[in-house]
Amino acid sequence: MRILIAEDDTVSRLILQKCVVKLGHDCVVAKDGDEAWAKCQTEQVDVVISDWMMPGLDGPELCRRIRKQESDQDRYVYIILLTSLEGRQHFLGGMQAGADDYLLKPMDKEDLQVRLVSAERVTSLHRHLADQKAELERLNAQLYEEGRTDALTRLRNRLSMQEDLRNLHDQSRRYGRGYAAALCDIDRYKIYNDRYGHQAGDDVLRKVAHSLATVSRASDTVYRYGGEEFLVLLPEQDLATAGRAMQRLSQAVAELCIPHEGSEKGIVTISVGVAALQPREPKSIDALIKEADLALYHAKESGRNCVVLHHEGQNALYQVTTERAGV
Ligand code: GH3
Ligand code: MG
Ligand code: MG
Ligand code: MG
Repeated sequence: MRILIAEDDTVSRLILQKCVVKLGHDCVVAKDGDEAWAKCQTEQVDVVISDWMMPGLDGPELCRRIRKQESDQDRYVYIILLTSLEGRQHFLGGMQAGADDYLLKPMDKEDLQVRLVSAERVTSLHRHLADQKAELERLNAQLYEEGRTDALTRLRNRLSMQEDLRNLHDQSRRYGRGYAAALCDIDRYKIYNDRYGHQAGDDVLRKVAHSLATVSRASDTVYRYGGEEFLVLLPEQDLATAGRAMQRLSQAVAELCIPHEGSEKGIVTISVGVAALQPREPKSIDALIKEADLALYHAKESGRNCVVLHHEGQNALYQVTTERAGV
């Protein structure tokens, strides 16, 4: 163990230090309460053996500080207070201040050894608990992540989308910022599955997902909405800028040049519907998604492989060209 000795009397300190080292422990020394407290911050000590009366902080005050700090950390320091026989009646106060045990002065070597056996048991139990707690926290974080990740594509899933949408919507309300949402749907995907098989279909989902995730901006997030549909959230984007961004994404999917005999272009393409919430516009999340869905429907109606923007009462169409993809 790493043991801090806080003792203002040089001779006592040296004797104690010698005993502690002889028992096989690391030793850190402080010659008053303030130095002891400072060393508690910098040295990772398992045990503090502290004198009761010292210049600066006294033993009980040192105990209180250590215990107070411990409540924010996953560490337990075992504290032994030293006192003379005459000071014995104060011991209840010392234990209430946070000490685990006490030793009478002049210190007896066997007594010290007995105390340190107990200290070792308690600190190792606390360490074990802290390790278990850390492991539980790690597993919890992992579960949290897994619960928000789509197993097939590794994109964020629908639960994650709902949480993020709610946050984005609240923020945009509070700070008067707009945002856009785009629904993407793979064209003629059922035919693809029927023609090439479900495994090849899954492969297409992964490739399209990867392409959308890598081509989208860092501030935008792509979610698997369900089946062969993806939703892209574009914070602080208006209809026009979101439309251009989605055109880029559609282009990237076309440029994967995945053969698809059953689609209009002979390759895998997506159709996209985009809707935006303007700053301070009183529109619900559901209404926004419905608009994107309506625009997507129009994209399908307009021959697929295109991006449609939802305007009030009309739909603007962006046709994605595949020439650049060399198709
Ligand atoms: P459209 O161009 O109008 O979007 O036609 P579509 O064939 O893409 O749309 P439809 O909704 O008719 O078919 C979607 C298909 O997606 C049907 C379903 O079996 C398939 N699908 C959904 N999820 C998965 C999946 O995880 N893996 C695979 N391989 N197929 C899936
Ligand atoms: Mg003293
Ligand atoms: Mg669909
Ligand atoms: Mg589809």
